Amino acid sequence: MNEALNNRINDVYRRIAEACQRVGRQKADVKLVAVSKGINAEQLKEAISTGLSVFGENRVQDFLKKYDVIDKQVEWHFIGHLQRNKARYLAGKVSMIHSLDSMSLAATLNRLSDIQGYAWQVLVQVNVSGEATKFGLAPSELPDFLDEIREMKGLKVCGLMTIAPYCEDPEEVRPVFRRLRELKEDMMQKKPWLDLRHLSMGMSNDFEVAVEEGATLVRIGSALFGS
Ligand SMILES: *Cc1c(COP(=O)(O)O)cnc(C)c1O
Repeated sequence: MNEALNNRINDVYRRIAEACQRVGRQKADVKLVAVSKGINAEQLKEAISTGLSVFGENRVQDFLKKYDVIDKQVEWHFIGHLQRNKARYLAGKVSMIHSLDSMSLAATLNRLSDIQGYAWQVLVQVNVSGEATKFGLAPSELPDFLDEIREMKGLKVCGLMTIAPYCEDPEEVRPVFRRLRELKEDMMQKKPWLDLRHLSMGMSNDFEVAVEEGATLVRIGSALFGS
């Protein structure tokens, strides 16, 4: 076991628990997705033996290399922008895609599901902050998008995801997280057939604020593995 890593993991869990406590949430309702981009299979094994069990990857090629070694010992989430021609490599290997960001990707995943009999759990990525460099739907596009993909039986939409802009002071991005939660609540109210149980939001720099605003999945890399 890696002592330093162990301490960082415990620290992150403690901070999640404290953020939950501040707003009266249960810490069991927040899942830590350890973002393992940039760490190799050997380091991953160490992370697994130290107790991490859910990993997030953002590049298909890198993911497959690690998956070859680690396989289904852990739960894998795909969190980065996914190119349509690479989607098929993820079938049966990842338990969730956090980054559904276009109708064409939705159609591709749905088609793959028909062929491979694999239903995808997906989160719709919303570009709440409107930064041009970020993928994701504009909040105003979300209602129609959800209606259209409703017909796609190969997709199980189980929540929303966003990436906040980097800010020195995480309080500055609180409105971004709050907006995602409000969007989720609004969509669930207007579309009762939806089951949006997840909010994937919060990274190393801002996860406590995200948890206070209702995150159920936090994606944390550098606070665990260094940068
Ligand atoms: C890299 C990455 C993270 C983790 O970022 P850290 O700041 O290292 O915690 C989370 N989400 C996505 C989509 C990422 O690409």
